Amino acid sequence: MVTTVGAEIPFVDLKAQYAAIREEILAEVAEVLEGMQLFLGPRQRAFEATYAAYCEASDCISMSNGTDALELALRALGVGPGDEVLTQPNSFIATAEAISATGATPTFADVDARSATLDPAEVAKRLTPQTKAIIPVHLYGRPAEMAALRAVAQGIPIIEDACQAHGARYQGRRAGSLGDLACFSFYFSKNLGAYGEGGAVTTSDPALAERVRMLRDHGSKARYEHDVVGRNARMDELQAAILGVKLRHLDEWNVRRRANAATLSAALAGASLVLPMPGGAEIEEVFHLYVVQHPERDRLRAFLGERGVQTGIHYPRPIHLQKAYADLGYEAGAFPISERLSATILSLPMYAELTEDQIERIAASVREFDHVGA
Ligand SMILES: *Cc1c(COP(=O)(O)O)cnc(C)c1O
Repeated sequence: MVTTVGAEIPFVDLKAQYAAIREEILAEVAEVLEGMQLFLGPRQRAFEATYAAYCEASDCISMSNGTDALELALRALGVGPGDEVLTQPNSFIATAEAISATGATPTFADVDARSATLDPAEVAKRLTPQTKAIIPVHLYGRPAEMAALRAVAQGIPIIEDACQAHGARYQGRRAGSLGDLACFSFYFSKNLGAYGEGGAVTTSDPALAERVRMLRDHGSKARYEHDVVGRNARMDELQAAILGVKLRHLDEWNVRRRANAATLSAALAGASLVLPMPGGAEIEEVFHLYVVQHPERDRLRAFLGERGVQTGIHYPRPIHLQKAYADLGYEAGAFPISERLSATILSLPMYAELTEDQIERIAASVREFDHVGA
């Protein structure tokens, strides 16, 4: 009994999204090109104001990408050589790379086995006098346990890695307003994605906002006056215009992601996998990724692939065991929960445009694995 093999179910499907907003996008892009103000123009200023308000923060500084946003947020806090910054091992490498780019050393605390976000009790054990900042990741679109983290941090600044959590809420407040600073990526496949590179820092601290803004543009407030050694980390006007259009649709897309996740979870009930942890009363997640756990992940993944269901693994090797970080000296077993998750997690297709039929086919393929594959 093999499920009828229809068209491939892609892991992300940006063509469907583009088809729905094509006219709006093309009109904005045409206006930018007519005006030929390609950097730090009106679209960028408008996007910063709108996105700051959306995130319930007082400032938004648009950026070249999420990695630069993390690096400049750290530098605005004065983080540099000799300092440590604590994050989680089960993130995209960029979280640690941004720490390294400042000259500081990444350190890690393990995550909660169910939520896959930073475990505040583990953070408490790993803080040292050198820890200058903590970066919890709102992984898969689920906000970290910010209140408990704030309590154990004892005043150490917290930077949200909100690169996967545009629009998520924690205790009623938006990601982007939960830490001292927050960093976003607008990489094409994120819940809010550009048609190129993009990122942003949000904060409600005016002094930090000013520092990030200067660092982004060669350390300068007035042209050819450079107060600190900065970077070129600007967003371009075309991406700002595109993001401005897409931001108008973000809430509706997130509502549909949550509805699709609920439908998929209901369809998978009773199957041999661990479903994503329900958000709970304090958490409104945005399902950047829909991640299940299965003891025979690789066989399940191959089986789904044969049935046209594309999947991903986020992430197959924890950061502390990456070759790039061999000189930090960690060995297997250092962060057992992150390591176990890396061997069992599987990301199923998740986006606003998933159809009921596609969701049913994903669930049917998993059930078929239970019957014949196991
Ligand atoms: C995407 C992502 C980043 C990096 O963003 P870029 O825009 O690709 O530089 C950092 N952290 C996390 C958790 C991400 O998902």
